[in-house]
Amino acid sequence: MRNRSIKFKLALLTFLMLLIAAAVSFLAVRYASGVVLRSTIRNYLIGMVEENTNKIAFITKEAKPEISIGNMYIEFEGGYLEIDDDFLDKINDVSAALYDDDGTMIYGENTLEKYMEKTPFAASKVWSIDVAGEVFDVYDRQLNLSTPTDSKLWIRGIVSRTNSTSQLNEITRLSLFVIPILILLLIFIMYFIIDRLLSPLGNIEKTAEQISEGYDLKRRIEVGKNNDEVSRLAKIFNGMLDRLERAFNTERQFTSDASHELRTPTSVIMTQAEYTLEKERSVDEYIDAMKVIDKQSKRMNLLLGDMLDYTRMDQKSERYEMEELDISRLVTETSDHMTLVGEKNIHLTVDVEPWLKINGNEVLLTRMIQNLISNAYRYGVQDGNIKVALKRVRDDESDAPSNLVELSIVDDGIGISKEDQEKIFDRFYQSDASRSIQGTGLGLSMVKKIVELHHGEIQVESEEKKGSTFRVRLPLCN
Ligand code: ADP
Repeated sequence: MRNRSIKFKLALLTFLMLLIAAAVSFLAVRYASGVVLRSTIRNYLIGMVEENTNKIAFITKEAKPEISIGNMYIEFEGGYLEIDDDFLDKINDVSAALYDDDGTMIYGENTLEKYMEKTPFAASKVWSIDVAGEVFDVYDRQLNLSTPTDSKLWIRGIVSRTNSTSQLNEITRLSLFVIPILILLLIFIMYFIIDRLLSPLGNIEKTAEQISEGYDLKRRIEVGKNNDEVSRLAKIFNGMLDRLERAFNTERQFTSDASHELRTPTSVIMTQAEYTLEKERSVDEYIDAMKVIDKQSKRMNLLLGDMLDYTRMDQKSERYEMEELDISRLVTETSDHMTLVGEKNIHLTVDVEPWLKINGNEVLLTRMIQNLISNAYRYGVQDGNIKVALKRVRDDESDAPSNLVELSIVDDGIGISKEDQEKIFDRFYQSDASRSIQGTGLGLSMVKKIVELHHGEIQVESEEKKGSTFRVRLPLCN
């Protein structure tokens, strides 16, 4: 059973439930109808006999001339028994007859007369008699007629119980035939509905199989218009595949970019070494060769370090905890440390609005500030200026404070051309103007990632040979 499909299990469950429901309701209805039918028939029997008691009277001989046409007159104890013409002797399965106290039938009908001749009367109660396997209900009622000898008269009513329940048996037989057909029909419909409902599950299974067999991350599950659990699962699965495909492509791109970047210094080192070792060289030549190798290996070292940092952050292999921190303090401290770089006699000024708090990770944010300031130094000009500022963003018109903080880093360095501005956040991108300056092209893509992790935005404004401004906007703590 465990290996059976959900479809099969659901259909079986539905079948069993329907079967139980049908059996219980059938038995309950059958029992209740039996009880109701029996009581209706009994009441009908009693009602008919009681009704007949009013249809019989004793009249003296003298009263005979007042006879009514249609009535029946039977001589009895020197007078007459007058029986109304509407005395009910046989209606449907119920028959009724008039008897004297000895059990001799005076008038009426009794289908069982020959079987129950002289059977004693049981006053005013329904009793039953079994005749050749058929059960009959009998009701005897004594009449209070004042005859000369006060003799007792009886009306006996009889109805066949078997006959009356035969209709019920007929309905039962029909139900036993119709109910299974109905159940089968319902099962068929249920199976069809379940099949439709679960078809996305089958698609998920098929797609997952195809992906694992062929590593084809482009495949997706077809999702219908429904918005039920299965369709939602399919959508989640598709979303997961989207992210997986993106991550996989990024990974592949990164590996290819990284190998490409590493190839240049590696080939320079190899060529330089081979060339130098070809024959004996002078000391100056050896020194020159070692300088080239030293420069390239430093570049490789820088590249590898940045690549490692970048991948760690990208894959979130280190869990970065976000906490409330004082961004004002962080910007001031990091900028102060960076003034120690003091390259090209560049002057760095810091203007920070105090006590601004954001929800973030100190290590990552320090890295972001460092990268931006070191770029400003790196691409700055001799005796230039860098202005680091942090302030709460205010509405242009009303000047009302918003819930954003803006960090701006302004330099008067070499600037970035319009077309380069669009690409500088891409990994390994370095503008032609900056190729000669030592860098890896990973700094800004890392900055962008950090900004995104903090739900912020980064923008650049720049003019070639005039300088650049990097603006980072981050949400403040509430
Ligand atoms: P790297 O500085 O290591 O080359 P980045 O990702 O930090 O890599 O920067 C990418 C490119 O953007 C740089 O190569 C440079 O061309 C340009 N760039 C970044 N910051 C500045 C700046 N302050 N002034 C001019 N150009 C810049």
